Amino acid sequence: MENSCKNKHLIVILLFPFCITFGFSQNQVYEKIKIPGQFDHALRDSVSQSLIQHVDNLFYQIARGSIDSSYVQMQNAALTKAILTELRGIENEGDSLPNHYHKQLLRFYPIANNTYSISIGFLSNESGQAIPVLKTIFNLIATHEKNVVRFSLPLSYLTRNWKSTKIGKTTYVYKDTIQLKRAHIFNKKNHLISRKMNIPTESFKFYMCENYQEISRLLGYEYALETATTYRDGYGVQQGYIFSIMNNEDFSHDVFHYYSGKINDFKNRNWLAEEGTASSWGNAYYTDKNGEMIELEHLVFALKTYLKNNKEADLLHLFTENPKIFDHIAPELSIRSVIAGVLSNEIERSVGIKGIHRILNSRKTESVLDYDNYFRTLNTLIGINKSNFNRRLKDLLATY
Ligand SMILES: [Zn+2]
Repeated sequence: MENSCKNKHLIVILLFPFCITFGFSQNQVYEKIKIPGQFDHALRDSVSQSLIQHVDNLFYQIARGSIDSSYVQMQNAALTKAILTELRGIENEGDSLPNHYHKQLLRFYPIANNTYSISIGFLSNESGQAIPVLKTIFNLIATHEKNVVRFSLPLSYLTRNWKSTKIGKTTYVYKDTIQLKRAHIFNKKNHLISRKMNIPTESFKFYMCENYQEISRLLGYEYALETATTYRDGYGVQQGYIFSIMNNEDFSHDVFHYYSGKINDFKNRNWLAEEGTASSWGNAYYTDKNGEMIELEHLVFALKTYLKNNKEADLLHLFTENPKIFDHIAPELSIRSVIAGVLSNEIERSVGIKGIHRILNSRKTESVLDYDNYFRTLNTLIGINKSNFNRRLKDLLATY
């Protein structure tokens, strides 16, 4: 995934990958949720019938791109709205989209007084296939009180028996145990990164999850075709919420991206530099075989071992081609990000934070990995360029 879409977690942050596009233009007609006959008995009372109508209304609003806030339960409202909005998908196909997904009611049952769990399936006919493709199963919680209907993600309901503890500015929500040492490391890094970026340190609600599939379920996605096999990712910082990577308490890598996104314009952000600084100030994002976050220093030592065993290795080639050399630690790790991390440290040491801001904002092309302008800025800041790259980098590695 590193090679095909730069950085998987970056993509996760930017394009929550459940691309259920069912936006439509004015002249298209909203297709209501299909209700199989088996539901007739369960849906015969007026409350149930009204709820289903409201679910249709909600999806109509999502498709139109504007969710009425009065429809959303107060608790976790911002997150609920964000996730529901993303159900609409990425609008790069615009109004030419020929059809939206067919929706079907899959489950409907009460879970408490006036509260119901509702599952909707999204099916599509891809390239004229005879058998529809199941794209997503999405779960919603709906309450019906005094004729007012409100919706929420299953998050609160599914975590209602979880424990909670606050470490620094982060409230951790977890099933059984929390590793306080890691949580304190995250707290320290949250303060450190925000201080370096000169922006206020934020508070987070941090849900400890075993894998990406568990995160998805908490957010309503019982199933999503695009991410059906994803499990080692977390869910990027959104609306003050964090969902962990493989049950690890330290999410500092993406917290760096989050803070950077607050002060840096996306079109200028060079992701060569972003990944370097995120790896240095945060961590490598992924966990090792023991479930521990991988720190930059550990990977620098692994790189030095690699160079010892591969005398012909060329650091410029490793940086620009990004071959897999850390599979023995974690398959997603990027040598490019490790080298960018070493360069980021040198920029910070020699020029200071203003140098970091310059290299972070060095992108001038469409490509998120703008090598030309990265190298140009790198040369201006610390005199490293393609011709002296191997020698200078070896000198830097020797200081670790
Ligand atoms: Zn990253």
